[in-house]
Amino acid sequence: MPASSLDTIANLAKRRGFVFPASEIYGGLRSSYDYGPLGVELLRNLREAWWKSMVTDRDDIVGLDSSILQARQVWVASGHEASFTDPLVECRNCNNRFRLDKLEDPDTCANCGKTGTFTEPRPFHLMLKTYLGPVEEDAAVVYLRPETAQGIFINYENVRRTARMRLPFGIAQIGKAFRNEITPGQFVFRTREFEQMEMEFFCRPEEAEKWYRYWLDARLQWYVDLGMTPDHVRLRAHDPDELAHYSSATSDVEYLFPWGWDELEGIANRADFDLRAHTEHSGVDLQYYDQEADERFFPHVVEPAAGVTRSAFAFLIDAYDEDEVGGESRVVLRLHPRLAPVKVAVLPLSKKDDLVAVTDEVAALLRGRWAIEVDVTQSIGRRYRRQDEIGTPFCVTIDFDTLEDRAVTIRDRDTTEQVRLPITGLVEHLEERFGGAV
Ligand code: ATP
Repeated sequence: MPASSLDTIANLAKRRGFVFPASEIYGGLRSSYDYGPLGVELLRNLREAWWKSMVTDRDDIVGLDSSILQARQVWVASGHEASFTDPLVECRNCNNRFRLDKLEDPDTCANCGKTGTFTEPRPFHLMLKTYLGPVEEDAAVVYLRPETAQGIFINYENVRRTARMRLPFGIAQIGKAFRNEITPGQFVFRTREFEQMEMEFFCRPEEAEKWYRYWLDARLQWYVDLGMTPDHVRLRAHDPDELAHYSSATSDVEYLFPWGWDELEGIANRADFDLRAHTEHSGVDLQYYDQEADERFFPHVVEPAAGVTRSAFAFLIDAYDEDEVGGESRVVLRLHPRLAPVKVAVLPLSKKDDLVAVTDEVAALLRGRWAIEVDVTQSIGRRYRRQDEIGTPFCVTIDFDTLEDRAVTIRDRDTTEQVRLPITGLVEHLEERFGGAV
């Protein structure tokens, strides 16, 4: 992969309809983004790959979709209202504000370059606040959730009882989260509205360490299995002074972004912090009763917490490549077929009626099995370029010979190699090439 810069990816994402700046016709809203036709498919494929590996492929994890708005007490109990803050410093020279713990040099302004101009750090609250009902008063305050995890803890007993789960078991959730980040940026890496995929895995206290190790390996492998370059993804254990108040051990899955290694996902051993806190604050006993041993205890929790939008970005960066085909340079997204927004493109060589009729026939064969795109405009070379740039694994070309021999050409995105075969064998051939991946 050539060193793909942020701008290159952002331009491609906009040009091809993956990601648009939000409110663009009004000048944009800083760090907000809208996902276009290809972007939504990429996000959907990513969520589905996560859900499959976490929920539907297993018998010990079930799903949940909890509300974005919850009682304020949830965030009091979790510790977010009191301490979900980042250290904010302001440069007295240029008035830019920064998150102190993310500055390369904590004494030098990253904007104007002056040294020793920062104010004392102050805790800046990250939860976005709003009001329910017609009166903007303190009693009506609610927060937009800053993580999906707490919705899982407060439903722990509902889920355990109704799904008849016994330890060890997990609850998974995908959804939006909101943080009033001090310094959003690097395209969709850090935004104020984003999407998370989180799973809380409840187990006996003495098994927490074992499950923590298990989820470290499993989560790292998930990215590799979806095509991420193994050398560009790694686990990094937090130093003791980096650990959040609730965690006895945390590791990040990190990706080698254009600016260096940075977090894709956090995997934390949260011990019994959350269930205990919600028990104390709500008065509802969230202990687990183990019938065989006749004992009550708070399960411990291991949490893999990933970002949908952030990992989509990492997969785009990782897939980006430039190479040469027949003396011409091209851009190609080498996305794993499971993530590719379009799986097969159907391209007639010309718009002539009889070719369009066969095109319709081929499209009907494929549609319903795979996400396909039929493209009849522009030269075939330009259409191949477009499909390469959006990561479509295969193009099926219909030419004038097709009218005689009822055969089509299949072009491979990565190698650009072409094979010709009868339409009757097309579905089987593609199924084989996808190898069950989609
Ligand atoms: P950071 O230290 O970078 O602010 P964090 O450690 O607070 O992040 P977590 O609370 O562990 O992040 O959130 C879990 C995951 O959610 C992150 O690994 C990331 O993928 C995603 N995430 C968190 N904040 C954002 C954001 N502002 N924009 C996009 N994704 C985010």
